[in-house]
Amino acid sequence: MRVTGNLSYSLSEAERAERDKRLLQHTSETSVYRQVLLTGVLQSTYPDKIQSRAAKPVGTRSLLFSAPSSGINVYSYHPVNIEGYSIGNCYQEDYYSFLEMGYDTDVLVIGAGPAGLSAARSLTRMDVPFILIHREKSPCEKKVCGGFIPQRALERFGIEDFSGAYPVDAVRMRFPGAEGKIVEFKEKVGVNATRFDIGRAQLSSIDDSESIWSETEATRVDIAGDECLTRIVRNSEDDVISSKLLIDASGANPVTQRFVSIRDRIPNTSMGYAVQYQMHLDSESSVLRGVNDFIYGSEFSPGGYAWSFPRGREVAVGTGGLVDRVRNSEKRVEEFLEHLLKTVEPLKSELGNATVNKRESALMPLAGIVRPSYARRLILAGDSAGHCSPITGEGIFYSMIAGELAAITSKDAIREGGGSTNQLRVYEKRWMKEFGSDLKWGLWLQRRFLREGSKSMGSVFLRSKKSQKLIAEMLLGKRSVRNAIIRAAPGYLRSKI
Ligand SMILES: Cc1cc2nc3c(=O)[nH]c(=O)nc-3n(C[C@H](O)[C@H](O)[C@H](O)COP(=O)(O)OP(=O)(O)OC[C@H]3O[C@@H](n4cnc5c(N)ncnc54)[C@H](O)[C@@H]3O)c2cc1C
Repeated sequence: MRVTGNLSYSLSEAERAERDKRLLQHTSETSVYRQVLLTGVLQSTYPDKIQSRAAKPVGTRSLLFSAPSSGINVYSYHPVNIEGYSIGNCYQEDYYSFLEMGYDTDVLVIGAGPAGLSAARSLTRMDVPFILIHREKSPCEKKVCGGFIPQRALERFGIEDFSGAYPVDAVRMRFPGAEGKIVEFKEKVGVNATRFDIGRAQLSSIDDSESIWSETEATRVDIAGDECLTRIVRNSEDDVISSKLLIDASGANPVTQRFVSIRDRIPNTSMGYAVQYQMHLDSESSVLRGVNDFIYGSEFSPGGYAWSFPRGREVAVGTGGLVDRVRNSEKRVEEFLEHLLKTVEPLKSELGNATVNKRESALMPLAGIVRPSYARRLILAGDSAGHCSPITGEGIFYSMIAGELAAITSKDAIREGGGSTNQLRVYEKRWMKEFGSDLKWGLWLQRRFLREGSKSMGSVFLRSKKSQKLIAEMLLGKRSVRNAIIRAAPGYLRSKI
Protein backbone atom coordinates (compact mmCIF):
# COMPACT_ATOMS: atom_id res chain seq x y z
CA MET A 1 0.00 0.00 0.00
CA ARG A 2 2.80 2.43 0.79
CA VAL A 3 4.29 4.22 -2.22
CA THR A 4 7.10 6.72 -2.33
CA GLY A 5 8.22 9.23 -4.90
CA ASN A 6 6.47 10.67 -7.88
CA LEU A 7 7.11 9.36 -11.35
CA SER A 8 5.74 12.36 -13.18
CA TYR A 9 8.57 14.72 -12.71
CA SER A 10 11.58 12.49 -13.07
CA LEU A 11 11.66 11.95 -16.84
CA SER A 12 14.86 12.94 -18.61
CA GLU A 13 14.78 14.31 -22.14
CA ALA A 14 15.94 10.94 -23.52
CA GLU A 15 13.22 9.14 -21.58
CA ARG A 16 10.58 11.50 -22.87
CA ALA A 17 11.73 10.94 -26.46
CA GLU A 18 11.67 7.17 -25.97
CA ARG A 19 8.22 7.38 -24.41
CA ASP A 20 6.87 9.49 -27.26
CA LYS A 21 8.23 7.08 -29.83
CA ARG A 22 6.67 4.06 -28.17
CA LEU A 23 3.33 5.67 -27.55
CA LEU A 24 2.97 6.95 -31.08
CA GLN A 25 3.86 3.60 -32.57
CA HIS A 26 0.87 1.97 -30.93
CA THR A 27 -2.03 4.35 -31.29
CA SER A 28 -4.16 1.86 -33.18
CA GLU A 29 -4.02 -1.05 -30.75
CA THR A 30 -6.94 -2.19 -28.59
CA SER A 31 -7.43 -0.36 -25.36
CA VAL A 32 -6.46 -3.26 -23.12
CA TYR A 33 -3.28 -3.80 -25.09
CA ARG A 34 -2.51 -0.11 -24.94
CA GLN A 35 -2.86 -0.09 -21.18
CA VAL A 36 -0.49 -3.00 -20.82
CA LEU A 37 1.87 -1.27 -23.16
CA LEU A 38 1.79 1.89 -21.11
CA THR A 39 2.56 -0.15 -18.06
CA GLY A 40 5.39 -1.63 -20.04
CA VAL A 41 6.72 1.83 -20.78
CA LEU A 42 6.70 2.58 -17.11
CA GLN A 43 8.31 -0.71 -16.33
CA SER A 44 11.14 -0.23 -18.79
CA THR A 45 11.71 3.28 -17.54
CA TYR A 46 11.55 2.42 -13.86
CA PRO A 47 12.40 -1.28 -13.57
CA ASP A 48 13.41 -0.90 -9.96
CA LYS A 49 10.06 0.59 -8.98
CA ILE A 50 7.61 -1.52 -10.95
CA GLN A 51 8.27 -5.24 -10.80
CA SER A 52 5.00 -6.63 -12.02
CA ARG A 53 1.91 -5.20 -13.61
CA ALA A 54 -1.78 -5.66 -13.84
CA ALA A 55 -3.30 -2.99 -15.99
CA LYS A 56 -7.02 -2.47 -15.83
CA PRO A 57 -9.40 0.28 -16.81
CA VAL A 58 -11.14 1.73 -13.77
CA GLY A 59 -13.66 4.01 -15.33
CA THR A 60 -14.46 6.76 -17.68
CA ARG A 61 -11.91 9.23 -16.47
CA SER A 62 -9.02 7.28 -15.14
CA LEU A 63 -6.61 4.42 -15.61
CA LEU A 64 -4.99 2.45 -12.90
CA PHE A 65 -1.78 0.58 -13.35
CA SER A 66 -1.08 -1.47 -10.32
CA ALA A 67 2.02 -3.35 -9.44
CA PRO A 68 0.87 -5.63 -6.65
CA SER A 69 4.18 -7.14 -5.68
CA SER A 70 5.77 -3.76 -5.16
CA GLY A 71 2.57 -2.33 -3.76
CA ILE A 72 2.68 0.47 -6.31
CA ASN A 73 -0.35 1.92 -8.03
CA VAL A 74 -0.11 4.57 -10.69
CA TYR A 75 -3.07 6.69 -11.67
CA SER A 76 -3.75 8.65 -14.78
CA TYR A 77 -6.50 11.22 -14.75
CA HIS A 78 -7.70 11.62 -18.28
CA PRO A 79 -10.52 13.74 -19.60
CA VAL A 80 -11.85 11.31 -22.21
CA ASN A 81 -13.91 8.16 -21.85
CA ILE A 82 -11.70 5.14 -21.65
CA GLU A 83 -13.51 3.43 -24.51
CA GLY A 84 -12.78 6.31 -26.86
CA TYR A 85 -9.37 6.95 -25.46
CA SER A 86 -6.28 6.67 -27.60
CA ILE A 87 -2.65 6.91 -26.83
CA GLY A 88 -2.46 9.83 -29.25
CA ASN A 89 -4.83 11.78 -26.97
CA CYS A 90 -2.88 10.76 -24.02
CA TYR A 91 0.34 11.83 -25.54
CA GLN A 92 -0.99 15.19 -26.69
CA GLU A 93 -2.08 15.98 -23.18
CA ASP A 94 1.28 14.89 -21.87
CA TYR A 95 0.41 11.62 -20.32
CA TYR A 96 3.21 11.62 -17.83
CA SER A 97 2.27 14.94 -16.38
CA PHE A 98 -0.90 13.24 -15.15
CA LEU A 99 0.89 10.39 -13.50
CA GLU A 100 0.84 10.18 -9.75
CA MET A 101 1.76 7.75 -7.09
CA GLY A 102 -0.98 6.91 -4.61
CA TYR A 103 -2.42 4.60 -2.01
CA ASP A 104 -4.76 1.71 -2.42
CA THR A 105 -7.25 0.27 0.07
CA ASP A 106 -10.61 -1.49 0.25
CA VAL A 107 -12.54 1.15 2.20
CA LEU A 108 -11.71 4.81 2.63
CA VAL A 109 -13.45 6.47 5.57
CA ILE A 110 -13.54 10.27 5.56
CA GLY A 111 -13.96 11.74 9.03
CA ALA A 112 -13.01 10.74 12.59
CA GLY A 113 -16.18 11.70 14.40
CA PRO A 114 -18.35 9.09 16.11
CA ALA A 115 -19.46 7.72 12.72
CA GLY A 116 -16.01 7.41 11.11
CA LEU A 117 -14.30 6.00 14.20
CA SER A 118 -17.08 3.50 14.75
CA ALA A 119 -16.75 2.39 11.11
CA ALA A 120 -12.98 2.03 11.62
CA ARG A 121 -13.53 -0.05 14.76
CA SER A 122 -15.80 -2.47 12.91
CA LEU A 123 -13.59 -2.64 9.80
CA THR A 124 -10.59 -3.49 12.00
CA ARG A 125 -12.54 -6.24 13.74
CA MET A 126 -13.69 -7.69 10.43
CA ASP A 127 -10.17 -7.53 8.97
CA VAL A 128 -11.21 -5.28 6.10
CA PRO A 129 -8.31 -3.13 4.85
CA PHE A 130 -9.18 0.54 5.30
CA ILE A 131 -7.77 4.03 5.64
CA LEU A 132 -9.51 6.68 7.75
CA ILE A 133 -8.57 10.29 7.10
CA HIS A 134 -9.51 13.31 9.16
CA ARG A 135 -8.52 16.94 9.33
CA GLU A 136 -7.58 17.46 12.93
CA LYS A 137 -4.49 16.41 14.88
CA SER A 138 -6.65 14.46 17.31
CA PRO A 139 -10.12 13.21 16.26
CA CYS A 140 -12.75 15.94 16.48
CA GLU A 141 -10.75 18.07 18.92
CA LYS A 142 -12.29 21.18 17.33
CA LYS A 143 -15.81 19.81 16.93
CA VAL A 144 -18.54 21.91 18.53
CA CYS A 145 -20.72 19.64 20.65
CA GLY A 146 -22.48 19.44 24.01
CA GLY A 147 -20.70 16.13 24.55
CA PHE A 148 -23.47 14.13 26.20
CA ILE A 149 -23.29 10.41 25.37
CA PRO A 150 -26.12 8.15 26.51
CA GLN A 151 -25.31 5.01 28.47
CA ARG A 152 -26.52 2.74 25.66
CA ALA A 153 -23.80 4.16 23.37
CA LEU A 154 -21.06 3.66 25.98
CA GLU A 155 -22.07 0.05 26.50
CA ARG A 156 -22.61 -0.92 22.89
CA PHE A 157 -19.35 0.60 21.64
CA GLY A 158 -17.09 -0.48 24.49
CA ILE A 159 -16.19 2.94 25.91
CA GLU A 160 -17.86 2.62 29.30
CA ASP A 161 -15.00 4.03 31.29
CA PHE A 162 -12.74 6.68 29.82
CA SER A 163 -10.76 9.57 31.17
CA GLY A 164 -12.58 12.91 30.97
CA ALA A 165 -16.05 11.31 31.24
CA TYR A 166 -18.36 12.89 33.84
CA PRO A 167 -21.36 10.78 34.87
CA VAL A 168 -24.84 12.22 34.43
CA ASP A 169 -27.63 10.99 36.70
CA ALA A 170 -30.29 13.70 36.57
CA VAL A 171 -32.02 16.08 34.20
CA ARG A 172 -33.58 19.47 34.87
CA MET A 173 -36.27 20.66 32.47
CA ARG A 174 -37.76 24.11 32.30
CA PHE A 175 -40.80 24.85 30.18
CA PRO A 176 -42.29 28.33 29.71
CA GLY A 177 -44.72 29.38 32.37
CA ALA A 178 -43.81 26.42 34.58
CA GLU A 179 -41.42 25.76 37.42
CA GLY A 180 -38.20 23.93 36.59
CA LYS A 181 -38.49 20.19 37.20
CA ILE A 182 -35.72 17.82 38.18
CA VAL A 183 -35.82 14.12 37.44
CA GLU A 184 -33.21 12.03 39.22
CA PHE A 185 -32.17 8.55 38.25
CA LYS A 186 -30.81 5.88 40.56
CA GLU A 187 -28.07 4.96 38.12
CA LYS A 188 -25.80 6.77 35.65
CA VAL A 189 -27.69 7.51 32.43
CA GLY A 190 -24.70 8.65 30.37
CA VAL A 191 -21.66 10.90 30.53
CA ASN A 192 -20.63 14.40 29.50
CA ALA A 193 -17.18 14.74 27.93
CA THR A 194 -15.25 16.93 25.52
CA ARG A 195 -15.09 15.75 21.94
CA PHE A 196 -11.32 15.47 22.36
CA ASP A 197 -11.81 12.90 25.13
CA ILE A 198 -14.61 11.11 23.26
CA GLY A 199 -12.39 10.89 20.18
CA ARG A 200 -9.52 9.48 22.22
CA ALA A 201 -11.82 6.93 23.85
CA GLN A 202 -13.10 5.78 20.47
CA LEU A 203 -9.56 5.66 19.09
CA SER A 204 -8.42 3.44 21.95
CA SER A 205 -11.06 0.89 20.98
CA ILE A 206 -9.44 0.53 17.53
CA ASP A 207 -6.38 -1.72 17.30
CA ASP A 208 -5.23 -0.62 13.86
CA SER A 209 -4.15 2.97 14.56
CA GLU A 210 -1.76 2.97 11.56
CA SER A 211 -4.72 3.11 9.22
CA ILE A 212 -5.91 6.36 10.81
CA TRP A 213 -4.36 9.41 9.23
CA SER A 214 -4.70 12.71 11.03
CA GLU A 215 -4.29 16.18 9.49
CA THR A 216 -5.36 14.78 6.15
CA GLU A 217 -8.08 16.48 4.15
CA ALA A 218 -10.14 15.05 1.29
CA THR A 219 -10.31 17.70 -1.41
CA ARG A 220 -11.94 15.87 -4.28
CA VAL A 221 -13.81 12.64 -4.87
CA ASP A 222 -14.34 10.83 -8.20
CA ILE A 223 -16.31 7.63 -8.38
CA ALA A 224 -15.68 5.93 -11.68
CA GLY A 225 -15.87 2.32 -12.81
CA ASP A 226 -14.99 0.05 -9.93
CA GLU A 227 -12.86 2.54 -7.99
CA CYS A 228 -13.30 5.63 -5.85
CA LEU A 229 -10.45 8.08 -6.28
CA THR A 230 -10.08 10.58 -3.47
CA ARG A 231 -7.62 13.41 -3.69
CA ILE A 232 -6.12 14.32 -0.36
CA VAL A 233 -3.77 16.89 1.11
CA ARG A 234 -1.48 15.36 3.71
CA ASN A 235 1.47 17.15 5.26
CA SER A 236 0.85 19.97 2.75
CA GLU A 237 1.32 17.52 -0.14
CA ASP A 238 -1.25 16.36 -2.67
CA ASP A 239 -1.86 12.65 -2.92
CA VAL A 240 -4.55 10.23 -4.01
CA ILE A 241 -6.25 7.23 -2.44
CA SER A 242 -7.97 4.58 -4.51
CA SER A 243 -10.61 2.51 -2.72
CA LYS A 244 -13.32 0.04 -3.60
CA LEU A 245 -15.78 1.83 -1.36
CA LEU A 246 -16.05 5.17 0.34
CA ILE A 247 -17.72 5.91 3.69
CA ASP A 248 -18.31 9.65 3.96
CA ALA A 249 -18.54 10.47 7.66
CA SER A 250 -17.39 14.06 7.27
CA GLY A 251 -20.24 15.71 9.18
CA ALA A 252 -23.14 18.04 8.50
CA ASN A 253 -21.59 19.44 5.32
CA PRO A 254 -20.33 16.25 3.65
CA VAL A 255 -17.34 16.55 1.36
CA THR A 256 -18.72 14.15 -1.27
CA GLN A 257 -21.79 16.33 -1.73
CA ARG A 258 -19.64 18.70 -3.81
CA PHE A 259 -18.69 16.00 -6.32
CA VAL A 260 -21.30 13.23 -6.26
CA SER A 261 -24.98 13.88 -6.57
CA ILE A 262 -26.82 11.77 -3.97
CA ARG A 263 -29.52 14.03 -2.59
CA ASP A 264 -30.46 17.69 -2.29
CA ARG A 265 -28.82 19.81 0.38
CA ILE A 266 -30.72 19.94 3.67
CA PRO A 267 -32.70 23.22 3.54
CA ASN A 268 -32.51 25.98 6.15
CA THR A 269 -35.94 24.95 7.40
CA SER A 270 -34.46 21.61 8.52
CA MET A 271 -30.86 22.51 9.40
CA GLY A 272 -30.11 23.59 12.96
CA TYR A 273 -27.68 26.28 14.06
CA ALA A 274 -26.34 26.49 17.59
CA VAL A 275 -24.10 28.79 19.60
CA GLN A 276 -22.30 27.35 22.59
CA TYR A 277 -20.04 28.69 25.35
CA GLN A 278 -17.41 26.52 26.98
CA MET A 279 -17.34 27.90 30.51
CA HIS A 280 -15.00 27.36 33.43
CA LEU A 281 -15.81 27.70 37.14
CA ASP A 282 -13.17 29.89 38.70
CA SER A 283 -13.80 28.96 42.28
CA GLU A 284 -11.63 26.02 43.37
CA SER A 285 -14.29 24.67 45.67
CA SER A 286 -17.23 24.51 43.28
CA VAL A 287 -17.90 21.45 41.19
CA LEU A 288 -21.05 21.06 39.14
CA ARG A 289 -23.26 18.02 39.73
CA GLY A 290 -24.01 15.61 36.90
CA VAL A 291 -27.30 17.29 36.02
CA ASN A 292 -28.07 18.13 32.40
CA ASP A 293 -30.36 21.13 31.84
CA PHE A 294 -32.87 21.53 29.02
CA ILE A 295 -34.53 24.95 28.84
CA TYR A 296 -37.41 25.56 26.46
CA GLY A 297 -39.19 28.72 25.38
CA SER A 298 -38.84 31.58 22.89
CA GLU A 299 -37.14 33.65 25.59
CA PHE A 300 -34.10 31.41 25.50
CA SER A 301 -33.87 30.12 21.96
CA PRO A 302 -35.05 31.00 18.46
CA GLY A 303 -37.49 28.09 18.21
CA GLY A 304 -35.26 25.37 19.62
CA TYR A 305 -34.01 24.85 23.15
CA ALA A 306 -31.08 25.77 25.38
CA TRP A 307 -28.89 23.37 27.36
CA SER A 308 -26.22 23.19 29.98
CA PHE A 309 -24.07 20.04 30.23
CA PRO A 310 -21.54 20.14 33.10
CA ARG A 311 -18.17 18.40 33.31
CA GLY A 312 -16.85 19.00 36.85
CA ARG A 313 -15.66 22.59 36.77
CA GLU A 314 -16.30 22.97 33.06
CA VAL A 315 -19.67 23.33 31.39
CA ALA A 316 -21.02 23.57 27.84
CA VAL A 317 -23.94 26.00 27.68
CA GLY A 318 -25.68 26.55 24.37
CA THR A 319 -28.81 27.44 22.50
CA GLY A 320 -30.05 27.27 18.94
CA GLY A 321 -32.83 26.64 16.48
CA LEU A 322 -33.52 26.01 12.83
CA VAL A 323 -31.46 28.20 10.51
CA ASP A 324 -34.47 29.99 9.00
CA ARG A 325 -35.77 30.84 12.48
CA VAL A 326 -32.35 32.06 13.54
CA ARG A 327 -32.16 34.28 10.46
CA ASN A 328 -35.63 35.70 11.01
CA SER A 329 -35.11 36.30 14.70
CA GLU A 330 -34.70 39.88 15.88
CA LYS A 331 -32.17 38.80 18.47
CA ARG A 332 -28.76 37.28 17.80
CA VAL A 333 -28.38 33.74 19.14
CA GLU A 334 -25.74 34.92 21.65
CA GLU A 335 -28.30 37.31 23.14
CA PHE A 336 -30.61 34.39 23.98
CA LEU A 337 -27.70 32.71 25.72
CA GLU A 338 -26.66 35.81 27.67
CA HIS A 339 -30.27 36.32 28.76
CA LEU A 340 -30.43 32.72 29.95
CA LEU A 341 -27.24 33.03 31.99
CA LYS A 342 -28.49 36.23 33.62
CA THR A 343 -32.00 35.07 34.50
CA VAL A 344 -32.53 31.31 34.81
CA GLU A 345 -31.97 29.80 38.24
CA PRO A 346 -30.21 27.70 39.40
CA LEU A 347 -27.87 28.20 36.39
CA LYS A 348 -27.53 31.90 37.15
CA SER A 349 -26.14 31.18 40.62
CA GLU A 350 -24.15 28.12 39.63
CA LEU A 351 -22.41 29.86 36.75
CA GLY A 352 -22.27 33.36 38.25
CA ASN A 353 -18.49 33.19 38.70
CA ALA A 354 -17.73 31.17 35.59
CA THR A 355 -15.68 32.59 32.73
CA VAL A 356 -16.33 31.92 29.06
CA ASN A 357 -13.25 30.16 27.66
CA LYS A 358 -14.56 29.65 24.17
CA ARG A 359 -17.48 30.87 22.05
CA GLU A 360 -18.36 28.48 19.25
CA SER A 361 -21.11 27.77 16.75
CA ALA A 362 -22.04 24.95 14.38
CA LEU A 363 -24.69 23.38 12.18
CA MET A 364 -26.59 20.18 12.87
CA PRO A 365 -29.03 18.37 10.58
CA LEU A 366 -32.51 18.27 12.14
CA ALA A 367 -34.37 16.96 9.10
CA GLY A 368 -35.60 13.58 10.32
CA ILE A 369 -35.18 10.78 7.80
CA VAL A 370 -33.01 11.95 4.90
CA ARG A 371 -32.74 9.63 1.91
CA PRO A 372 -30.97 8.26 0.01
CA SER A 373 -27.92 7.72 2.19
CA TYR A 374 -25.91 5.78 -0.37
CA ALA A 375 -24.94 5.78 -4.03
CA ARG A 376 -22.75 3.54 -6.13
CA ARG A 377 -19.64 2.75 -4.04
CA LEU A 378 -20.53 5.45 -1.54
CA ILE A 379 -22.15 5.37 1.90
CA LEU A 380 -23.01 8.40 4.02
CA ALA A 381 -22.90 7.88 7.79
CA GLY A 382 -23.64 10.13 10.76
CA ASP A 383 -24.42 13.83 10.32
CA SER A 384 -23.56 13.54 6.62
CA ALA A 385 -26.64 11.31 6.29
CA GLY A 386 -28.77 13.44 8.64
CA HIS A 387 -28.44 10.94 11.50
CA CYS A 388 -29.21 13.42 14.25
CA SER A 389 -32.32 13.69 16.43
CA PRO A 390 -34.59 16.50 15.18
CA ILE A 391 -35.93 17.03 18.68
CA THR A 392 -32.80 16.88 20.86
CA GLY A 393 -29.93 17.39 18.42
CA GLU A 394 -28.36 14.19 19.77
CA GLY A 395 -26.29 12.53 17.08
CA ILE A 396 -23.34 10.72 18.67
CA PHE A 397 -25.14 7.44 19.30
CA TYR A 398 -26.89 7.35 15.92
CA SER A 399 -23.61 8.19 14.17
CA MET A 400 -21.82 5.35 15.94
CA ILE A 401 -24.51 2.89 14.87
CA ALA A 402 -24.45 4.21 11.31
CA GLY A 403 -20.65 3.88 11.16
CA GLU A 404 -20.88 0.27 12.33
CA LEU A 405 -23.61 -0.55 9.79
CA ALA A 406 -21.70 1.18 7.00
CA ALA A 407 -18.68 -1.00 7.80
CA ILE A 408 -20.71 -4.22 7.85
CA THR A 409 -22.39 -3.31 4.57
CA SER A 410 -19.02 -2.46 3.00
CA LYS A 411 -17.55 -5.79 4.01
CA ASP A 412 -20.47 -7.69 2.48
CA ALA A 413 -20.38 -5.63 -0.72
CA ILE A 414 -16.64 -6.14 -1.18
CA ARG A 415 -16.98 -9.86 -0.56
CA GLU A 416 -19.65 -9.97 -3.26
CA GLY A 417 -17.25 -8.16 -5.56
CA GLY A 418 -18.97 -4.81 -5.83
CA GLY A 419 -20.55 -1.75 -4.35
CA SER A 420 -23.49 -1.20 -6.64
CA THR A 421 -26.46 0.79 -5.38
CA ASN A 422 -28.32 -2.51 -5.11
CA GLN A 423 -25.65 -4.00 -2.87
CA LEU A 424 -25.60 -0.93 -0.64
CA ARG A 425 -29.37 -0.53 -0.35
CA VAL A 426 -29.37 -2.82 2.68
CA TYR A 427 -27.39 -0.17 4.61
CA GLU A 428 -30.36 2.17 4.60
CA LYS A 429 -32.69 -0.63 5.65
CA ARG A 430 -30.37 -1.43 8.53
CA TRP A 431 -30.13 2.08 9.99
CA MET A 432 -33.84 2.70 9.42
CA LYS A 433 -34.55 -0.38 11.51
CA GLU A 434 -32.22 0.71 14.31
CA PHE A 435 -33.12 4.38 14.70
CA GLY A 436 -35.37 5.48 11.81
CA SER A 437 -38.32 5.67 14.19
CA ASP A 438 -36.52 8.16 16.47
CA LEU A 439 -35.78 10.41 13.49
CA LYS A 440 -39.33 10.16 12.19
CA TRP A 441 -41.10 10.84 15.49
CA GLY A 442 -38.48 13.35 16.53
CA LEU A 443 -39.37 15.38 13.45
CA TRP A 444 -43.05 15.01 14.21
CA LEU A 445 -42.48 16.39 17.69
CA GLN A 446 -40.21 19.17 16.42
CA ARG A 447 -42.86 20.34 13.93
CA ARG A 448 -45.48 20.28 16.64
CA PHE A 449 -43.30 22.37 18.93
CA LEU A 450 -42.68 24.88 16.18
CA ARG A 451 -46.34 25.11 15.22
CA GLU A 452 -47.85 25.32 18.63
CA GLY A 453 -44.97 26.53 20.77
CA SER A 454 -43.30 24.67 23.57
CA LYS A 455 -45.78 26.18 26.02
CA SER A 456 -48.55 23.89 24.89
CA MET A 457 -46.23 20.89 25.07
CA GLY A 458 -45.11 22.00 28.50
CA SER A 459 -48.54 21.76 29.96
CA VAL A 460 -49.01 18.32 28.42
CA PHE A 461 -45.62 17.00 29.42
CA LEU A 462 -45.57 18.33 32.92
CA ARG A 463 -48.92 17.13 34.08
CA SER A 464 -47.47 14.43 36.24
CA LYS A 465 -44.20 13.11 37.61
CA LYS A 466 -44.64 10.09 35.36
CA SER A 467 -44.75 12.30 32.24
CA GLN A 468 -41.71 14.24 33.40
CA LYS A 469 -39.78 11.02 33.84
CA LEU A 470 -40.82 9.83 30.37
CA ILE A 471 -39.61 13.04 28.78
CA ALA A 472 -36.38 13.01 30.78
CA GLU A 473 -35.75 9.45 29.65
CA MET A 474 -36.34 10.46 26.05
CA LEU A 475 -33.97 13.43 26.30
CA LEU A 476 -31.24 11.22 27.75
CA GLY A 477 -31.70 8.45 25.22
CA LYS A 478 -33.17 5.94 27.66
CA ARG A 479 -36.51 5.74 25.87
CA SER A 480 -37.44 5.91 22.18
CA VAL A 481 -39.16 9.09 20.98
CA ARG A 482 -42.21 7.18 19.77
CA ASN A 483 -42.63 5.38 23.04
CA ALA A 484 -42.31 8.62 25.03
CA ILE A 485 -44.94 10.29 22.85
CA ILE A 486 -47.35 7.39 23.13
CA ARG A 487 -46.95 7.09 26.90
CA ALA A 488 -46.91 10.81 27.72
CA ALA A 489 -49.33 12.24 25.18
CA PRO A 490 -53.01 12.59 25.91
CA GLY A 491 -55.56 10.37 24.21
CA TYR A 492 -56.23 12.64 21.27
CA LEU A 493 -52.54 12.58 20.30
CA ARG A 494 -52.26 8.86 20.77
CA SER A 495 -55.05 8.37 18.28
CA LYS A 496 -53.06 10.24 15.61
CA ILE A 497 -49.94 8.09 15.95
C1 LIG B 1 -23.72 22.64 19.35
C2 LIG B 1 -23.91 21.14 19.19
C3 LIG B 1 -24.11 20.37 20.33
C4 LIG B 1 -24.30 18.99 20.20
N1 LIG B 1 -24.43 18.24 21.33
C5 LIG B 1 -24.58 16.91 21.24
C6 LIG B 1 -24.64 16.09 22.41
O1 LIG B 1 -24.51 16.58 23.55
N2 LIG B 1 -24.81 14.76 22.25
C7 LIG B 1 -24.92 14.19 21.03
O2 LIG B 1 -25.11 12.97 20.94
N3 LIG B 1 -24.84 14.93 19.91
C8 LIG B 1 -24.65 16.27 19.98
N4 LIG B 1 -24.52 17.01 18.84
C9 LIG B 1 -24.54 16.33 17.54
C10 LIG B 1 -23.23 15.61 17.30
O3 LIG B 1 -22.16 16.49 17.53
C11 LIG B 1 -23.16 15.09 15.86
O4 LIG B 1 -24.37 14.45 15.53
C12 LIG B 1 -22.01 14.11 15.69
O5 LIG B 1 -20.79 14.72 15.99
C13 LIG B 1 -21.96 13.59 14.26
O6 LIG B 1 -20.87 12.75 14.13
P1 LIG B 1 -20.20 12.47 12.72
O7 LIG B 1 -19.17 11.44 12.96
O8 LIG B 1 -21.23 12.22 11.71
O9 LIG B 1 -19.51 13.85 12.27
P2 LIG B 1 -18.55 14.83 13.02
O10 LIG B 1 -18.51 14.55 14.48
O11 LIG B 1 -18.94 16.20 12.59
O12 LIG B 1 -17.11 14.49 12.45
C14 LIG B 1 -16.74 14.86 11.15
C15 LIG B 1 -15.30 14.45 10.89
O13 LIG B 1 -15.04 14.66 9.51
C16 LIG B 1 -13.78 15.29 9.35
N5 LIG B 1 -13.82 15.99 8.07
C17 LIG B 1 -14.74 16.89 7.60
N6 LIG B 1 -14.44 17.25 6.34
C18 LIG B 1 -13.32 16.57 6.01
C19 LIG B 1 -12.51 16.51 4.84
N7 LIG B 1 -12.80 17.23 3.76
N8 LIG B 1 -11.43 15.71 4.85
C20 LIG B 1 -11.10 14.98 5.95
N9 LIG B 1 -11.83 14.99 7.07
C21 LIG B 1 -12.92 15.77 7.10
C22 LIG B 1 -13.62 16.16 10.57
O14 LIG B 1 -12.25 16.39 10.77
C23 LIG B 1 -14.22 15.23 11.63
O15 LIG B 1 -13.22 14.31 12.03
C24 LIG B 1 -24.31 18.39 18.92
C25 LIG B 1 -24.10 19.16 17.78
C26 LIG B 1 -23.89 20.53 17.91
C27 LIG B 1 -23.64 21.35 16.67
